Amino acid sequence: MNDVPEKQHDTERDWAAIAQSLAPVEVIDEPVLVKKRSRDFFWYSPILNQELRKCFGDLVALPKTRQELAQCLAVAYSEEIPVVLRGGGTGNYGQAVPLEGGLIIETTAMNRILEIGDGFVRAEAGALMADINAALQPEGWEMAMFPSTQDIATVGGFVAGGSAGIGSVANGPLRENGNIISIKALSMEAEPVEHSFDGDDVLQIHHAWGLNGAITEVTLRTVPTQDWIGCMAGFDDYADCYRAGYALASAPDEDIARKLCSTVDSRICDYFPRLENHVPKGKHLLVSLVPRDQLPAFRNLIEAHGGTVHLAMDEEERTRLRLPHVFEFAYNHTTLQVLKSDRSATYQQIGVPDPSDSDRVAAMRNKLGDDVWSHHEFTRAGGKVLTADLPIIWFKNPERLAEINATYESDGFTVYDAHLNAIEGNHMQPDYRHLAWKKRLDPKGLLNPGKSRVWEKLRHLSPEEIEAMGHKNET
Ligand SMILES: Cc1cc2nc3c(=O)[nH]c(=O)nc-3n(C[C@H](O)[C@H](O)[C@H](O)COP(=O)(O)OP(=O)(O)OC[C@H]3O[C@@H](n4cnc5c(N)ncnc54)[C@H](O)[C@@H]3O)c2cc1C
Repeated sequence: MNDVPEKQHDTERDWAAIAQSLAPVEVIDEPVLVKKRSRDFFWYSPILNQELRKCFGDLVALPKTRQELAQCLAVAYSEEIPVVLRGGGTGNYGQAVPLEGGLIIETTAMNRILEIGDGFVRAEAGALMADINAALQPEGWEMAMFPSTQDIATVGGFVAGGSAGIGSVANGPLRENGNIISIKALSMEAEPVEHSFDGDDVLQIHHAWGLNGAITEVTLRTVPTQDWIGCMAGFDDYADCYRAGYALASAPDEDIARKLCSTVDSRICDYFPRLENHVPKGKHLLVSLVPRDQLPAFRNLIEAHGGTVHLAMDEEERTRLRLPHVFEFAYNHTTLQVLKSDRSATYQQIGVPDPSDSDRVAAMRNKLGDDVWSHHEFTRAGGKVLTADLPIIWFKNPERLAEINATYESDGFTVYDAHLNAIEGNHMQPDYRHLAWKKRLDPKGLLNPGKSRVWEKLRHLSPEEIEAMGHKNET
């Protein structure tokens, strides 16, 4: 179990006075609403649910501009108040849950799309991913990738907490290929300063869980938009479905430039009531987005692997059928569909050692019990196809979960534990660049305290000394 102390309302501070000193920034102090904004989707994990459900902030600020955001940070700095930045609150590991109470700064009112140009979009941190995609489309562009939560997630939350998404099987994860062009972030000081991170330097801030600066603005790479067809193909055998998924993810872009490639066990698909009457029951599904002109090649690939395309819909057809986007049956939406019916389900994040070795994947499915149902996401990174298993697990107790993890690990699969509320989880090494920038931009250590276990051990060091620890680890 993670060691998280219970945190109730901090009655020692005069929160009414603090709210006043934030004026004219809008605040929320109604306890029920503050509690709501202290949560994210950590409840996917029964372990995190147990640990985090009683951790709440004390006050919420809703800045509309970066000047208002700077004011929030300056007040919190002078009063030494812990601060958690929050976008849409869709993180899965409790990244936006205040472990030490304090001020929650929600960015959703800082939501302007500032510039759309050739191959990029620049937006304020609180802009919704779906709004950005909608603004890009008439200009002939779309984001290189976006999370399946695009209706709620913000661009700042995505670059601070996310890693990949719809589009990553074509354009790689967020951290690669110039997918993040630039990030601007404010420091937490008496007079906050805005810093700009460009090129590879965006990695100093990307995926730091809001520990080392308050993101104000993000520039993302965009790609020319295509006429996407949302497809669902059914298979009788999961091994065939997986092999088709791997073939689709590996196909040259000039043949099939798919933007989504997910394979889902039929037992999970039984929890997709919206697909009733559209896809036959009992089929393992390959969920994909394919350009219209490559649909014939896609059909050939599916049929060559023993499958059938049951649904192929453009936006007009999807609206007519009143169906969600196909990506709402992929990524962590798959888990959500099951959780809507049964809260005893949970999931895990597993790296597949050799995605091309479908026999090894099939053997692992056999080794795991009936309480683990496969769901594979295919992406590309460093020019290679990567596969992650995000299985549904019917949770019995932490011991059984540990046994499932050990089964995966016994054959070289990597467990990226989804049940930890620390940025340095299993197989996630400390990122000393993040921590060096935390020292520079948040010298008092007030941003999202408790989320980095390593920080407490080196907060007394200079940024250069912290950075040097990373170099030491590389040699
Ligand atoms: C159903 C479901 C599906 C998902 N699918 C995907 C997916 O496809 N790909 C993926 O990568 N993730 C996915 N996720 C995880 C999550 O949705 C994404 O990471 C999302 O982009 C987070 O955006 P948000 O605005 O909700 O961030 P939040 O949850 O509000 O915050 C995430 C982290 O970023 C920090 N943060 C937020 N705003 C700022 C800021 N302005 N400055 C500094 N730090 C900040 C927070 O403190 C927190 O640590 C999914 C989650 C769910 C529940």
